[in-house]
Amino acid sequence: MTFTLKKSTAAFAEAKRYIPGGVNSPVRSFRGVGGTPPFIAKAAGSRIYDIDGNAYIDYVGSWGPMILGHAHPEVLGELKEALERGTSYGAPTLLETELARLIIEAVPSVELIRFVNSGTEATMSALRLARAYTKRNKIVKFAGCYHGHHDSLLVKAGSGATTLGVPDSPGVPSTIAGNTLTVEYNDDEELAAVFEQHGEDIAAVIIEPVPGNMGLVLPRPGYLEKVRAITEQYGALLIFDEVMSGFRVAYGGAQEVYKITPDLTCLGKVIGGGLPAAAYGGRQEIMEMIAPAGPVYQAGTLSGNPLAMAAGLATLRLLSQTEDFYEKVITMTAALCAGIQAQALAYGFNFQFHQAGTMFGLFFSDKTVYDYNSAKQSDVAAFNIFFHAMLAEGVYLAPSQFEAAFMSGAHTHADIGATIAASGNAFAKVAE
Ligand code: PLP
Repeated sequence: MTFTLKKSTAAFAEAKRYIPGGVNSPVRSFRGVGGTPPFIAKAAGSRIYDIDGNAYIDYVGSWGPMILGHAHPEVLGELKEALERGTSYGAPTLLETELARLIIEAVPSVELIRFVNSGTEATMSALRLARAYTKRNKIVKFAGCYHGHHDSLLVKAGSGATTLGVPDSPGVPSTIAGNTLTVEYNDDEELAAVFEQHGEDIAAVIIEPVPGNMGLVLPRPGYLEKVRAITEQYGALLIFDEVMSGFRVAYGGAQEVYKITPDLTCLGKVIGGGLPAAAYGGRQEIMEMIAPAGPVYQAGTLSGNPLAMAAGLATLRLLSQTEDFYEKVITMTAALCAGIQAQALAYGFNFQFHQAGTMFGLFFSDKTVYDYNSAKQSDVAAFNIFFHAMLAEGVYLAPSQFEAAFMSGAHTHADIGATIAASGNAFAKVAE
């Protein structure tokens, strides 16, 4: 059967009549790679299925949450039971306390936690709290790290130089972006220079400890320790944005792997089991400043929603109770990376492969990628050919060179073999 996206093409045109760009989050539109996004009809295990009847081995996993695979029967079972009890009460539940307890047990630095609905909300609230706690206004972020779409963090660096923030989007007031200082990831000297100049005004450094939003980039040995040390030296808070890396690179997140204790941690994706839930947590003394315990206001009609809590609870229980879950999925991820790398080499390409736990990434670049500048040197045109060839072969990757890929517990050895074989055909197309 030839690969066609006929129905998706019509659906995309129709969606554009009602929704800006036809999607509710920009990257879904395939603008980076061109073409039509498959409209998804259903998902199960390692597969997603589109409305044209195509099946794909899925390495997007809803951008990270689906670590158990899609429609996991136990998660669905918990959800169905929760659904029968009603969908939202706007009042406290036992589910929230239980999920909070599980996360606090798992994530070393978290002593108290507040649930919100999205990663954006989590980082936005963590910044407010950091500013209130330190009574300072400036924050430091890293070029290429994404923390959601609120004003303070929608800021990029100017050509890698240390700059006062320039808004990344019209509509972000320069007065707000101006409080955001941006430096290159993995460059501790630039960070030190920023602290030397602005140290007394910096409330917090927010960082993806393992960045997954410029493709997957790994911290250089000792780098995160330096970030921790300088924030302590100047009395600024260190916020780990583990919305993506939490329960992904390890059960306890990047902070467990790298043994760094941040002051605050943002979580999302996996903790909602595929439903909208996120959270921020950290040291008790800081978290107790949040209303109603303290004066820092933050609230949410659907925060701690019982369905999201039930899906999150079922997911975390399965992750912690399945023997060697991470070991197995990490080994599968390594096998996949090695297999694709062998195919790349067979076609004469020397690419950059990165793996962090159950996440992986591939840069179409023959140079080491360690920050946003080096990531941007990748051959995007080659990636785009590879991406479309993989899609036609039934492998669903994120539609951008600058996104990570995600493995799940539902992926099988057969999936890995099929993906490696598909990558050979795709590399052949790139080489043409
Ligand atoms: N932080 C990180 C590290 C993310 O990867 C994302 C989303 O991809 C966010 C924050 C924002 O989360 P959300 O899309 O749930 O608002």
